[in-house]
Amino acid sequence: MARLPSVDRLLKADAIAPLIDTFGRVETTAAIRNTLAGIRKDMAASGDEPPTDTAILEAASEALTQNAAPSLRPVFNLTGTVLHTNLGRASLPEEAIDAVAAAARGASNLEYRIGEGKRGDRDEHIEDQLCAMTGAEAATIVNNNAAAVMLVLNTFALGKEVPTSRGELIEIGGSFRMPDIMAQSGCTLVEVGTTNRTHLKDFAGAIGPDTGMIMKVHTSNYVVEGFTAEVPEPELAKLCHDNNIPFAIDLGSGTLTDLAQFGLPHEPTPMEAMKHGADVITFSGDKLLGGPQAGIIVGTKDYIAQIKKNPMKRALRCDKMTIAALSAVLRLYADPDRLVERVPTLRLLARRVDAIRGVAERIGPALAAAVDGFGSVTDTACESQIGSGALPTRRIPSAGLAISPNAKSGTALKALAEAFRALPVPVIGRIQDDAFILDLRCLEDEDSFTAQLPALDLPR
Ligand SMILES: *Cc1c(COP(=O)(O)O)cnc(C)c1O
Repeated sequence: MARLPSVDRLLKADAIAPLIDTFGRVETTAAIRNTLAGIRKDMAASGDEPPTDTAILEAASEALTQNAAPSLRPVFNLTGTVLHTNLGRASLPEEAIDAVAAAARGASNLEYRIGEGKRGDRDEHIEDQLCAMTGAEAATIVNNNAAAVMLVLNTFALGKEVPTSRGELIEIGGSFRMPDIMAQSGCTLVEVGTTNRTHLKDFAGAIGPDTGMIMKVHTSNYVVEGFTAEVPEPELAKLCHDNNIPFAIDLGSGTLTDLAQFGLPHEPTPMEAMKHGADVITFSGDKLLGGPQAGIIVGTKDYIAQIKKNPMKRALRCDKMTIAALSAVLRLYADPDRLVERVPTLRLLARRVDAIRGVAERIGPALAAAVDGFGSVTDTACESQIGSGALPTRRIPSAGLAISPNAKSGTALKALAEAFRALPVPVIGRIQDDAFILDLRCLEDEDSFTAQLPALDLPR
């Protein structure tokens, strides 16, 4: 039987230069070695003759290209969930993307006051904007809202008690459970009230010398309906102020604009929370705000100053790219007339169902051609959701395309979803009622979508 070529011989081949140019000598050599090892194994099993040097180099080149592809890749989010945590939540406005690139490229005045030539504070880049927009006296930001909640609890209630309504001991998702967060922040949770009803007297009875603060958590991902009672925020605020402890509200989504203008139900805003007497308010940067992942904390001057002094703040501080992006997004909020047009999250949420139907009409034929012989495509009404725990019970009417395999089997449906995920820009849809559904609310780049459809590889 003929022998495999040596690594050295292959490294001397003419075709190797462009590979070394692109991937470097170390990676190229490793890829050739791996390819040869794989072929050696196959040959031992099959008894086949070795492939040509050209074929071996081609296999190595393919492996190198695959390895070089970034792990984090763009996808088409056609799940119908606009703020999909697993798919990266909010897409940034172009203005924010430019700001990120500029901040990333070189040195900046991140913590430097140019006029004075002195050290500054990175929060200065966003603090005035946040205060102007929320009516707060001061503001700071950290990596995400989970961090913001932990930082607030740790600042005001380390080693102390935090009375919390039993109706608000929520799990947001993954490992973010309010009771665990309290414990990890060094606080003792004191449960008050019942699951469906909590009264002011429950809180009043729980406050004592060891109470650090009260935190009200916006139950953003579920609703308690029926015989319910919760304490109005202004009453809780007064109780806290009478006892000289801070009253914090964790809003979760925290939109800065009235969602009712998009036909969505009202979602509490930081401005309202301020008006209700909250001293500290936390919300996410990449939920309804439509910005980068961040935890925004706004509130009174004294309390925010205490938060900034906590050494945990240093551990949770945001990167310059986040600050650049958030500042750019906040600037867009100053121009409400063009806000929806510029902030993708709001633009997608506000997208009208007839406009989405238009997308279905335009891309439908290309999709039908791509699945021809495997299945058929029909228009379908869909219901999108905001995602990330915001207004979960509220569906937004949307439109989409449903692909039904000719073979009515779960295997065919799975193969369909897999083939769409295997496209150069993976398409993520959902399986529902024996069809693979693409909710088109979040499809804006129709040309890129249809351009890759001929690559759809279905078992026909
Ligand atoms: C989403 C959410 C959080 C966590 O925010 P992240 O930005 O995901 O860290 C905390 N509290 C509430 C009420 C939420 O909805």
